[in-house]
Amino acid sequence: MTIHPHLFAPLKIRGKVIPNRMVMGAMHTRLETMDRPYERLAAFYAERARGEIGLILTGGHSPTPEGVIDQESPVLNNESHLQGHRTITQTVHDAGGRIVLQILHAGRYARVPECVAPSASKARINMYAARAMDLDEIWRCIASFAHTAALAKKAGYDGVEVMGSEGYLINEFTSAITNQREDDFGGDAERRMRFPVEVVRAVRAAMGEDGWVVYRISAIDLMHGGMSAQEVLELARSVEAAGADMLNTGIGWHESTVPTIAASVPRAAWVSAVRRIKEAVRIPVIASNRINNPDVANAIVAAGDADLVSMARPLLADPAFARKTRLGQGKNINPCIACNQACLDAIFSNATATCLVNPRAGRELDYLSTAPAEHKRIAVVGAGPAGICFAIEAAQRGHHVTLWDAANQIGGQLQMACQVPGKSEFLELLRYYQTALDHPHIQLKLGQEVHADVLINEGFDAYVLATGVLPRTPDIPGIDHPKVLRYTDVLSERVSVGPRVAVIGAGGIGFDVAAFLTEDAHESTDLATFSQIWGVDLNFATAGGLLPAPAQMKFDSPPREVVMLQRSPQAMGKNLGRTTGWIHKAKLRRANVKQIVGVTYLKIDDAGLHYKIQEATHVLEVDHIVICAGQISNTSLVSEFQALGVQPHLIGGVFQAVELDAMRAIEQATRLALCI
Ligand code: FAD
Ligand code: NAP
Ligand code: SF4
Repeated sequence: MTIHPHLFAPLKIRGKVIPNRMVMGAMHTRLETMDRPYERLAAFYAERARGEIGLILTGGHSPTPEGVIDQESPVLNNESHLQGHRTITQTVHDAGGRIVLQILHAGRYARVPECVAPSASKARINMYAARAMDLDEIWRCIASFAHTAALAKKAGYDGVEVMGSEGYLINEFTSAITNQREDDFGGDAERRMRFPVEVVRAVRAAMGEDGWVVYRISAIDLMHGGMSAQEVLELARSVEAAGADMLNTGIGWHESTVPTIAASVPRAAWVSAVRRIKEAVRIPVIASNRINNPDVANAIVAAGDADLVSMARPLLADPAFARKTRLGQGKNINPCIACNQACLDAIFSNATATCLVNPRAGRELDYLSTAPAEHKRIAVVGAGPAGICFAIEAAQRGHHVTLWDAANQIGGQLQMACQVPGKSEFLELLRYYQTALDHPHIQLKLGQEVHADVLINEGFDAYVLATGVLPRTPDIPGIDHPKVLRYTDVLSERVSVGPRVAVIGAGGIGFDVAAFLTEDAHESTDLATFSQIWGVDLNFATAGGLLPAPAQMKFDSPPREVVMLQRSPQAMGKNLGRTTGWIHKAKLRRANVKQIVGVTYLKIDDAGLHYKIQEATHVLEVDHIVICAGQISNTSLVSEFQALGVQPHLIGGVFQAVELDAMRAIEQATRLALCI
């Protein structure tokens, strides 16, 4: 008997059964740009099917060349593509899964010069301006959706999903922001909805009686002047009448100025918008966005907010999410921490998606876990993410690992990351690591600072150092002044910080420390606060679901005056995550954090921090100066080993501190564990 019964009620649609209510949402992975693309995609999806996910939605395939997300994104518009797709469908079906191909026309988001839209316009997030489609073109485009659907059916897909949200072409037709036409496809709400209705009708006909048609509707545009709540419900009923079997939901447009899936968005934040749709139609409705745990997913179905729950990134993080849920092993689920670092940020940098917490995601053909020639006794020093991930993976291969840390708790620097507002999902990761380390082949020894001679005397077969990093101490006169604090002191809450603070350094940690010092609560996890901060209209009274601008981003009294400084003259935050950096910057703007670039630090004394910009000197009269000036590798053990003639393996920060993040530490650890 499962502890999540609502997730395990089967659902029968058009005679075919979806065995549980968990759906892997569509993700653009760019795996098709790698070697052996179809084999790779087949392995990627099949691993999720073996993990018992109820339904898989593929990444988007454009029906036309001008509808692609970018030049390298897939098009499905002729029979020559079918053989590769059959490899995918066959492999997934053999693994016991069901798979639906998403048809996505990117409209004015297509990063190609030929991009088209209902009306001529340019999206803020695209360098190319879109040309307006003429009437013939619109009808041809509708036919191309149907053609792609027919090809998908021939390739063996169980159905198709028509992508109608996120600000892509169909959503552009439904919204008055992007549709200024005055013909059959624009003018009033009914004519703006005609395009999706005709698409669904044509796709329905192409899929015949047994193919599923899912329509992904924009539940809330999060754009000023977007669809009204009433229009969303009318559209839902219209596509149902046109032949959709299920409604999936999308939240916001890609150019919205409200975070929709980042870690700072409360879990299941958008279910009230989904519930309204469910109440308006009879077909099953799928909830999506910021649902990353079985309890939350089960509660959504139990409450009747939706019939199914879509989780995309959580299936990158743990392909066996559904199976572990069925077995009541929720604690063994490797959680998606909503960081976007290895998935969305990678995609927006034209790289391929993987996952910070699971570097095997999308690399199923490369990261093969084979039995080692001999089972070794391995000593690992450092229980930060590098040491932990090495230990877990090596133990799973049969090695015997002893893992030491000087601290009384696991996690290394991640313990500090958890303290940052909007990063509490790291706690879930630490909780998972604690469970995974409870393995018969792992001995965990906390609160013990170890040295090379002791370890070597114990005679291990291999030594792995994961001793991480230490904060860099910049060479500024007065750096030992009592006003000076390290970020480690601040984030471990070992000191109390005064009301006026200067932060030296504006990398990821400088931004995190500034957020920590200025958010009154450590995190605004409740929906009301989140909605107030970002101006979301949870009463759905405004078109697009946003409150008028003046109500947004209000912050009456930031608890501290914080000034961030850096030596480089460039704007701060250039190296923050591509899809999340803007959120961090917006939060600090809201808290009136001042940013000063191009400085030379002169000295620190009782008056505060002295610096100059060009030849003008200034003093920041502050209570504390927090140093966030990067890190150096913690190599003292390396020298000890080398002095004794033993060469240890180095992973994570001790290997290289520059541009270190948890993603690199975990990836390097996993690779070593798979070959040692
Ligand atoms: P560490 O995490 O530094 O762990 C090293 C461990 O070794 C420590 O626990 C230490 O106690 C132990 N150790 C050292 N010497 C000895 C010894 N002689 N004996 C026993 N034990 C020893 N990264 C991201 O990717 N995304 C983020 O959002 C992010 N946010 C961050 C926010 C903050 C505030 C901070 C501080 C860091 C953040 N990072 C983030 C960076 C990330 O935490 C580090 O890159 C990562 O922890 C490095 O992993 P590691 O295992 O190499 O080293
Ligand atoms: P960082 O990103 O390298 O930033 C270091 C900052 O310190 C820079 O602003 C730099 O600016 C300044 N600095 C460097 N040397 C200095 C010196 N000698 N004197 C004074 N200032 C100096 O490092 P970090 O902020 O410590 O972050 C460490 C890693 O953690 C990062 O690589 C990042 O990937 C990861 N992290 C990621 C996130 C995330 O959200 N993804 C969050 C936190 C941390 P100037 O040289 O211009 O002064
Ligand atoms: Fe989730 Fe981060 Fe992995 Fe993306 S990279 S799937 S956001 S944990």
